[in-house]
Amino acid sequence: MNFSIRTKLTLWYTSLLFVSLIAFGAVFSYSLLKIFIYRMDDQISSVANMMTHTIIRPSGEIFLPRDFDIILGRFFGVRTTGNFIQVLDPHGEIVARSSNLDNFRLPLTKGTYHAALGGATTYEVVRNIGRYPVRVVTKPVMIGDNRLVMIVQVGSSLEGMDEIFHSMAYILISAIFASVIIAAAVGSFLAKKALKPVKTITEAARRIKAENLNERIPAAGPQDEIGRLTATMNEMIERLENSFKQIKQFTADASHELKTPLTILKGEMEIALRSRGDTAYMREVLESSLEEIDRMSYIVRNLLDLAKMDVEKGATAKEKVGLDRVVAERHDQLKRRALDSGIQLDIIENKPLVINGDLVRVSQLVFNLIDNAIKYTPRGGRVELFLTEEGGKALFRVRDSGVGISKEDLPYVFDRFYRVDKVRTRDVHGAGLGLSICKEIALAHGGSIDVESEPGKGSTFVVSLPLAGATGQHAAS
Ligand code: ADP
Repeated sequence: MNFSIRTKLTLWYTSLLFVSLIAFGAVFSYSLLKIFIYRMDDQISSVANMMTHTIIRPSGEIFLPRDFDIILGRFFGVRTTGNFIQVLDPHGEIVARSSNLDNFRLPLTKGTYHAALGGATTYEVVRNIGRYPVRVVTKPVMIGDNRLVMIVQVGSSLEGMDEIFHSMAYILISAIFASVIIAAAVGSFLAKKALKPVKTITEAARRIKAENLNERIPAAGPQDEIGRLTATMNEMIERLENSFKQIKQFTADASHELKTPLTILKGEMEIALRSRGDTAYMREVLESSLEEIDRMSYIVRNLLDLAKMDVEKGATAKEKVGLDRVVAERHDQLKRRALDSGIQLDIIENKPLVINGDLVRVSQLVFNLIDNAIKYTPRGGRVELFLTEEGGKALFRVRDSGVGISKEDLPYVFDRFYRVDKVRTRDVHGAGLGLSICKEIALAHGGSIDVESEPGKGSTFVVSLPLAGATGQHAAS
């Protein structure tokens, strides 16, 4: 059954209270019974002792008192009803008994008789004499060489005790039920009070949607479990809010980046239409349009790459990739462009290292970094490549003597669509996505990417990737 926490809590502790009270009641009643019986045994055994001493005179003579009722009265007070004396001979035959026994007799079981023969006193509860059970002591009267001469039995009705126990049981059970009902009511109220913040949290959490992620769950109470839950949920909402903000920003940036070349394209086309057949001008416009289309497809390609990596989230294909060969190939591919830009591109160190990963993505990472270094290094500069091993990781370093990046821009260069100088870098390969793709690739391979830079002096990008374990084997390139 689906009980609420409040009901469950209330049920639990009322049941627990009920069981504890019953256990307490049982122990209490048992102890009381023991005390009562002990006191009664004390009383009846005093009468039996007195009887023994009366029966055997100091001279050794045997004497039977005639009126037991006087003895009973002396011990049990005026009200002798329910108290009995019976004297038996060594064979168990009644010799004398108190008058209130009428025709009844206090029973003498075989076990008790044998015990008496052996000189032992027995205490027992017997029934069938009147309405109430009777506590009976059976005491042997011995003389000389342990010879049994008489058996004295003194009994006392348990009537008083029975009454006390009935009343006590009634009071106890009523008290237990009353306590349990009160505890259930108070407990349910307290549970409701304690769980009220949970209700508030549930309602607040239900209210929060994508549109009002700036709202928070009110944290009014102390820093207890509920307080901490509220704080944790608020932190979660904050993270969600940031993610939503990033997505919104990303969509806005992407639309803007695509809109700009489209606007340029449209403008150029309109001018071309008005130019009335100037072929040379038309050609110029077409070339410029093609550049804008290239730029758009570059952005779209990068966006698709990022979207794909977001979906894969680290689940890239894992094949053996010879990193040194990737570096060598990208170097060869870009050397021409570097030379054309008047830049010296060199591999300084290229240790044979193998990683587990996606060859296409790793090649893209290496390409983007070298490409950027060439893009942001003025004519006459240098770009150097290093592939080394450090602490079980492959370190790929691209060092350039280029423009560098200011301290303020450095933390953001890996953000999507972030560009330091938006006007200067507005060429085909400049949408501010290259480094964010590099970062995603490094992360998807269990690695990291970092940059050190000094404006005017140059930058060093460092990629760290975990090695496949074996070095020097090229399963793929
Ligand atoms: P972009 O397509 O604009 O190059 P990136 O994501 O590759 O986008 O780079 C983000 C920004 O980081 C660039 O706009 C540039 O300002 C800066 N940057 C990247 N690489 C370098 C480098 N090697 N030297 C100086 N600045 C760089």
